[in-house]
Amino acid sequence: MTSPAGAAIRDEPIVEALAEATTRDAGRVREVLAKAQAAKGLEMADVAVLAAISDPGLLGELFATARAVKESIYGSRLVLFAPLYISNLCANDCLYCAFRARNRELKRRALTQEEIAREVEILVDQGHKRILLVAGEAYPNEDFSYILESVKTIYSVKKNNGEIRRVNVNVAPLEVDEFKELKATGIGTYQLFQETYHRGTYKMMHLGGKKRDYDWRVSAMDRAMQAGIDDVGIGVLFGLFDWRFEILALLQHIRYLEGAFGVGPHTISVPRLEPAVGSDVAAHPPFAVADVDFRKIVAILRLAVPYTGIIMSTRETPNIRRETFALGVSQISAGSRTNPGGYASAEEFEMAQFQLGDHRGLDEVIGDVAEMGYIPSFCTACYRLGRTGMDFMDLAKPGEIKHHCDPNALSTFLEYLLDYGSGKTRKAGERLIADKIGAMGESERRATEDMLAKVRGGERDVLV
Ligand code: SAM
Ligand code: SF4
Repeated sequence: MTSPAGAAIRDEPIVEALAEATTRDAGRVREVLAKAQAAKGLEMADVAVLAAISDPGLLGELFATARAVKESIYGSRLVLFAPLYISNLCANDCLYCAFRARNRELKRRALTQEEIAREVEILVDQGHKRILLVAGEAYPNEDFSYILESVKTIYSVKKNNGEIRRVNVNVAPLEVDEFKELKATGIGTYQLFQETYHRGTYKMMHLGGKKRDYDWRVSAMDRAMQAGIDDVGIGVLFGLFDWRFEILALLQHIRYLEGAFGVGPHTISVPRLEPAVGSDVAAHPPFAVADVDFRKIVAILRLAVPYTGIIMSTRETPNIRRETFALGVSQISAGSRTNPGGYASAEEFEMAQFQLGDHRGLDEVIGDVAEMGYIPSFCTACYRLGRTGMDFMDLAKPGEIKHHCDPNALSTFLEYLLDYGSGKTRKAGERLIADKIGAMGESERRATEDMLAKVRGGERDVLV
């Protein structure tokens, strides 16, 4: 049965908007870019116009506008997290994924709670504060409480000054009651990617298990919201179908959620297909997205939904990641492993979900990000202080959230430098902190210096 969310994804308006969009008229592109500068978001027809840009000059203008909007809303902060793959058991048969049930080349493993705690200790020792828990859709003894237990285990680990302060979760769609149980464990964002919004492609790519049902998946965020989880993250797996169609459909999904629940998604993820053990589709993406188009996707999303975070994973190479920070990315993973148990034993790549593009450790990524002038942030204040869903957007849209984000980013970054940073990263980081403080207005500077003094004096988790 078609769900309300499924009914909101309509092919004809997308196809029409794409057919009507023309970049031969540079004036129309500039009109859209001027509208985008106001950071109030874009309509489908506008997005289609930007997606059709091919002229290098106009492309440069698109990127410049995205950079300006990103800078005005997010400043120079980049939030860091690590994925934690707890199990690669899966009952589904998604043709692009190494975890799919019929893949005999994959070694299967579901971590025990002790093994999960061990992985978390390693991440905490590296300095991480945020984890994205990831699992295939099959749980040991077919018991969903495995996920609930795992979230609790992650939060229970304390080591020296470190602990995980926010667990986001990327697991298969749940019933409303299960979402309520998940919320009760104290998760941050519930993430789920539609993979492709194109029904025909969806059918061809998902051959087995519950995930075959497009509507069950596309309506998952409705159930999460009904259960009270108001920070949700959506996404598309780019490479399965035409990216232009996908971003317009993504926008339909966002506008539907805003209409139905008063708030859209907290984040959008933009995974691109990567090679995966035993997958021809992953090796030869049917609609491979070129690097230049990938940058366009990030820039257009930044302008279409300025207040929704954009997440960039280590699927991408360091260079692509660097380029997209300026265009709109607000969260990145670092030092990732996509095989269960991968942090404790680095060798077992035959259990991984897909291949990584960025193999650097957390400290190296942080040093690089700081050298580029971005503040690596481990802030988890908003959801812990109840600033989620609509409350978050009410602060974000008038730009007030900045007064919390900048000081919190600097105080959590300083924590990292003091507790975990290498000599080289500490040097680059202290320079960056001094620059950022120097650029602040009088009262913000005083308040931030006060917070940093507390961190230097040994206090941790100093937030506003
Ligand atoms: N099993 C759950 C699901 O499918 O929603 C959650 C975890 S799944 C491991 C997380 C995401 O990985 C999928 O939603 C998909 O977008 C992405 N993924 C799967 N295969 C991939 C590949 N070959 N390259 C890049 N991303 C991939
Ligand atoms: Fe299973 Fe998710 Fe991989 Fe599909 S994408 S095979 S559901 S882990």
